[in-house]
Amino acid sequence: MRSSLFLLRCGAAFYTSAMELVNLQNATELLGLTPAQLQELMQKLNEKPFRARQLYANLFRRRLLNFEAMTDLPKTLRRKLADHTIITRTRIEKVFVASDGTRRFLLRLFDGCEVEAVFMPEDHRDTICISSQVGCPLACDFCMTGVFGLKRNMSAAEIVAQVIIVLNAVYGAGNETPHGTNIVMMGMGEPLLNYDNAMKAVRLFADEEGLQIAPRRVTLSTAGIVPRLYDMAQEAIRPRLAISLTAANDELRNRLFPINRKYPLAVLLAACRAYPLSERERLTFEYVMLKEVNDSDKDARQLIRLLAGVKAKVNLIPHNPAPELPYLASSEERILAFQKILVAAGLPAFIRRPRGQDIAAACGQLAARHQANA
Ligand code: SAH
Repeated sequence: MRSSLFLLRCGAAFYTSAMELVNLQNATELLGLTPAQLQELMQKLNEKPFRARQLYANLFRRRLLNFEAMTDLPKTLRRKLADHTIITRTRIEKVFVASDGTRRFLLRLFDGCEVEAVFMPEDHRDTICISSQVGCPLACDFCMTGVFGLKRNMSAAEIVAQVIIVLNAVYGAGNETPHGTNIVMMGMGEPLLNYDNAMKAVRLFADEEGLQIAPRRVTLSTAGIVPRLYDMAQEAIRPRLAISLTAANDELRNRLFPINRKYPLAVLLAACRAYPLSERERLTFEYVMLKEVNDSDKDARQLIRLLAGVKAKVNLIPHNPAPELPYLASSEERILAFQKILVAAGLPAFIRRPRGQDIAAACGQLAARHQANA
């Protein structure tokens, strides 16, 4: 049964004054603009092109989120920018900190919609898990985000703002992105159903003058929107690709992923085989381990056959159960046995350690749930 505690909240009044609302609603958020678009903006404001480069560095390299802090810009320009533009309207609503150091950020967008981003620290690197849509239309049977359906796509600015806001909360503003920052587009939503904005965000992450997060440090995870996989293959700057597989036959995958009826496994795997990979790159196949549903030795052998000839690695993800979801987690022993079968067949397989479980930040738990008692 779906709990009434869980709501996707949108449309709540956000601005206090009507004037402010009128001004800001038409403004483009600067965190979604490319260097070229910032140049156009400066032109409109009758400013020299080099001001665009300065502004770009302030926004993306130093992550300054207010014009006052941009002291290399003249005061008059700062005022002009404040009058005519807006950097981001995304705000932190709440932060949950887990015992393993994972932090879950509940973020509020300009229209009151809420999304989540998760910061996961490790010894030599950090990973930030970001959302691409408010909710998700795919309704996968084992995922909390799907319980509520899709509210809307996120803009490129909103996608990028998550990374900047999280980095600032952890490291403060004013410094370059720490080396070894990784991004996974595995939060709420299906990034390939918001293709243009997701790819624009990847290009903004990658920019050497800006955030400097190389595409090999960005992983986009998809349930398999096949035509967009062919589009992605054509992109000059493309992230690493992860496919949420979780079932190695169509009968089971149809049940778990309604989208599989549109793009069945043969079609999905053909797109995977056609996907261009660099020499050392492999496609990641995510496989959520669901007790007595997809975790038998037979399932492992079926998975090996399915991925034969694909440059693949498999991430086994322990299922994160929730009262709304009709599945249980496989035991650790079962996951280890399953992994052993894959590895013995020459298929690299890793077990993903769940992060932030005590704050509902783990895979498939992100739902922007409105927690009455939190
Ligand atoms: N729509 C994209 C990205 C969001 S889901 C996709 O489908 O890949 C990100 C990852 O979380 C996917 O690999 C998905 O299979 C996994 N996931 C979803 N629900 C989960 C759950 N309850 N427990 C563990 N992993 C889950």
